[in-house]
Amino acid sequence: MEEISRSLSTRMPKDVEILQAKLDAFLRIAKNNEQKQANFQEYELALLNSSGLNDLLSIILEQHRERFQLSEVTLLLVDPEYEFQRLIDNIPTLEKWKDHLFFTDNANAISQYFTILRKPRLSAYSKHIHRQLFTGKHTLHSVAILPLVRRKKFIGCLNLGSRSPNRFQDDMGTQFLQHVSAVISACIENARLQENIKQTGLLDPLTGINNRRFFDQRIDEEVMRSRRNKSPLCCLFIDLDHFKSINDNYGHQAGDKVLQQVAKLLSDIMRTTDVLARFGGEEFVILLSESGREISFEIAERIRTIIANHDFVISPTKTLNVTLSIGLAMMHSESQIKNSADLLKAADQAVYAAKVSGRNRVHNAN
Ligand code: GH3
Ligand code: MG
Ligand code: MG
Repeated sequence: MEEISRSLSTRMPKDVEILQAKLDAFLRIAKNNEQKQANFQEYELALLNSSGLNDLLSIILEQHRERFQLSEVTLLLVDPEYEFQRLIDNIPTLEKWKDHLFFTDNANAISQYFTILRKPRLSAYSKHIHRQLFTGKHTLHSVAILPLVRRKKFIGCLNLGSRSPNRFQDDMGTQFLQHVSAVISACIENARLQENIKQTGLLDPLTGINNRRFFDQRIDEEVMRSRRNKSPLCCLFIDLDHFKSINDNYGHQAGDKVLQQVAKLLSDIMRTTDVLARFGGEEFVILLSESGREISFEIAERIRTIIANHDFVISPTKTLNVTLSIGLAMMHSESQIKNSADLLKAADQAVYAAKVSGRNRVHNAN
């Protein structure tokens, strides 16, 4: 087209001037549309290739705003059973999106923004109508509210805010935004399911704390960090004393209740940076990072006494007292222990020594 317009202009310079300008404008629009299309395709690929809920939310809440030059992008999700929020609470880095990610327990909070056709709604910004969808921290003049729907139900809405009054107007076509809505809805649903599977696969169903699989992953990370930072890492191996006799005397369910209460007490004692897991059966493990031997020993002693002094409720009329033995092993820059297998083995041997020397005690390896 550029060639045609150029050849025309050499033949009839005056007459074609206007035509030339029109063609240039047309080319600019076409180029612009092509760029928009390419930009969207790139964005769509990023959404589809996102590696999990964390990554997906960063693409929606950060990339979307930058890529499409918006003032604000927020997400309101329907989450009546707090499932989404629980998943997100377990992803520490999500803290930074708290301002842009909102939840409601009622799908009506979403449906009120749409007509029965459930198409994106483009309009001028109204503080009265849109205040629940945006932070109020940015000056907005036009907005697009995109419905997120899965299996005919609202799962949320994506809210795009622009400083420009012309960016979103109600007479504009919404085909492009409808497509964005559909892709994002599918991606959110998929990432939520994946995250759920991932997290539940790392949790122990009986006690709700992390399981052995989680621990195996974390101990390697913690050992590497300890070596890199030359900081101490302590492993506490905890084994309940004579646990078999609780099952034998009061039944398996009573044993389960004790395990649940021990897990709860241990979680309450630990810092969030410590790693706690049910290793298996009546055994628990704890990793204390950055704690030297003395502090670690104090923590182990505190655990021992709290458990020993606790009345474990196994039925409305019956409580039990339970004790545990703890093996403590340390890894530090000068220690013989260099890897996770050695650390775990040393802690396991220490708990055995605690058992042999009478139970209800903490034994310090080497
Ligand atoms: P010790 O002081 O030497 O550790 O004695 P113990 O009885 O605790 O040790 P032992 O390893 O002989 O027994 C552990 C028991 O823990 C046996 C098993 O039935 C019980 N157990 C393991 N997992 C569970 C569980 O999920 N629920 C219940 N109720 N019991 C469990
Ligand atoms: Mg045991
Ligand atoms: Mg035991």
